[in-house]
Amino acid sequence: MNIILFGPPGAGKGTQADNIVKSFDLHKISTGDLLRDEISRKTNLGNQIKTIIEKGSFVSDEIINDLIERILSDKKYYNRLVFDGYPRNLQQAKNLDLLIEKYNQKISCAISFNVEKEIVVKRILGRQTCTKCGLIFNQYFKPSNSKNHSCDSKYLVKRPDDNEQIILKRYETYLDKTLPILNHYKRLNLLQEIEGKTGIDQIFAEIRAIIASLEA
Ligand SMILES: [Zn+2]
Repeated sequence: MNIILFGPPGAGKGTQADNIVKSFDLHKISTGDLLRDEISRKTNLGNQIKTIIEKGSFVSDEIINDLIERILSDKKYYNRLVFDGYPRNLQQAKNLDLLIEKYNQKISCAISFNVEKEIVVKRILGRQTCTKCGLIFNQYFKPSNSKNHSCDSKYLVKRPDDNEQIILKRYETYLDKTLPILNHYKRLNLLQEIEGKTGIDQIFAEIRAIIASLEA
């Protein structure tokens, strides 16, 4: 089974990807990891990618496609993938269709996490890390209190680079770029939409139900 995950930043997609990988013994594929891996192995392609990224340019779809083909042609990953953050545009999605067919596999479903922008903003802006013990809290959803945390509140810090404007912009950009891809999978009857505003466990229960229905 190959699964594709979509969700805006702050939707909890990464956490669920890890849950799925663990529970169903699959492999997570993210293009960021593939690129970093190639760079660290210092291959010709890796050096090329490094130069592109250092110039601040985007890695071409062609390079991404080559990296994805390498995975799909590898027997050890046969029909056992969770794509996280890929495909990123319609061209990549269509290329993935071709590769999937070429290597005689199938996309089982594309799961999209729908989360309202108000919740995304609170999840990201409310995030607090304790600099003393490393625990992570959220002032709106999981505030630090005397029961769950013993350090003084002065140790709680937020990431300074996030502000509401930037988060909303990222969210809008995600929707604009992703809608055509979601429509693509809808046409193929592969799209499953999940309300991402409930808790981590509840969302994962929904995912389990979807996957069970695929295996049935
Ligand atoms: Zn602490």
